[in-house]
Amino acid sequence: MRALNIAVLGATGSIGRQTLDVIDRNPQRFKLFGLTEGVHPAGRQAEHVVNGRAGEGDFDARVEAMVTDPRCDLVVIAIPGARALAPTLAALRAGKEVALATKEVLVMAGELVMRTAGEKGIRPIDSEHSAMWQCLWGEELANVRRLVITSSGGPFWAHPDMDLDQVTVEQALNHPRWSMGPKVTVDSATLMNKGLEVIEAHHLYGIALERITVCIHPQSVVHSLVEFVDGSFKAQLGRPDMRLPIAVALAYPDRLPDAVPPTPLAELSGLEFHDLDEARFPSVRLAREAAATGGGHPAVLNAANEEAVNAFLARDIPFSAIVLTVERTLAAFAGCGNSLPEILEADRWARAEVKEKFGSVRRA
Ligand code: MG
Repeated sequence: MRALNIAVLGATGSIGRQTLDVIDRNPQRFKLFGLTEGVHPAGRQAEHVVNGRAGEGDFDARVEAMVTDPRCDLVVIAIPGARALAPTLAALRAGKEVALATKEVLVMAGELVMRTAGEKGIRPIDSEHSAMWQCLWGEELANVRRLVITSSGGPFWAHPDMDLDQVTVEQALNHPRWSMGPKVTVDSATLMNKGLEVIEAHHLYGIALERITVCIHPQSVVHSLVEFVDGSFKAQLGRPDMRLPIAVALAYPDRLPDAVPPTPLAELSGLEFHDLDEARFPSVRLAREAAATGGGHPAVLNAANEEAVNAFLARDIPFSAIVLTVERTLAAFAGCGNSLPEILEADRWARAEVKEKFGSVRRA
């Protein structure tokens, strides 16, 4: 069996580094064909190494040349945010297998991306979607009653009396279970991450939005569940370790021996599940509404959230203003169709809108 040639977009981020680790530990199966890196070099040898940032110089053109190279088999998309969209579409148009960590790609342009992917679909790396994917293998979608996306609740769920206006950047970045990049860690604290994941699951699996629910599961052992029409649940369990969903995506339909260390079953005991308090954490409702409206609304949700999270991380706005900013921006959006130019324009509009309106939510 020839080793799979893999390009890793975003090799220096959290998912990217763990992907390189999975590739390194399975040299007979995987070969690092190419990578992109930001300001910190990955220090890795590969056929293609593209340094720089999206939109800078010929970065985008060089990335496109790498992911469409006939020798490249599989592209791992782990660049954060909206700038992952163009290389994802380029790889799919060239017929490549795509393993996707960047949920924003499906939030912004899910219909277009899934249509471009066609029959083979997308291999999810997001842990919840990997869990649902594994539960759905061999099942008929017609037999699915609902998908249940689990959430640890983030750092603030277990503290209902905490004033979310007073949350510091350090508190928001202190996730109880997962070690991730700053953007997704803040999204986990607002639970917007779960809102984005509902939209992501809707596109990946073609399940109606109202049949995708979120539950709080503080132990982060059950990575998500599928409920079937007969009342049966299937769940995927394991330690919170992103190397597992990465290994599943790279090796599909095979499984990699010892992708993560074995887990004693007793370590997985004491599992709790709680309903989501949507009044305290309205992000999931906002996301579901944006996706139901469709067109550019999900792109606006995503862009407004990304800009608001950046403003919070820069200490320009309080934590509680993140979701409020998203809600206000969606309310001010006139709407548009879902062609790529319209989606990109909606993204651009939302970012400008948020930057302009920060005065109204900035901490006094
Ligand atoms: Mg996730």
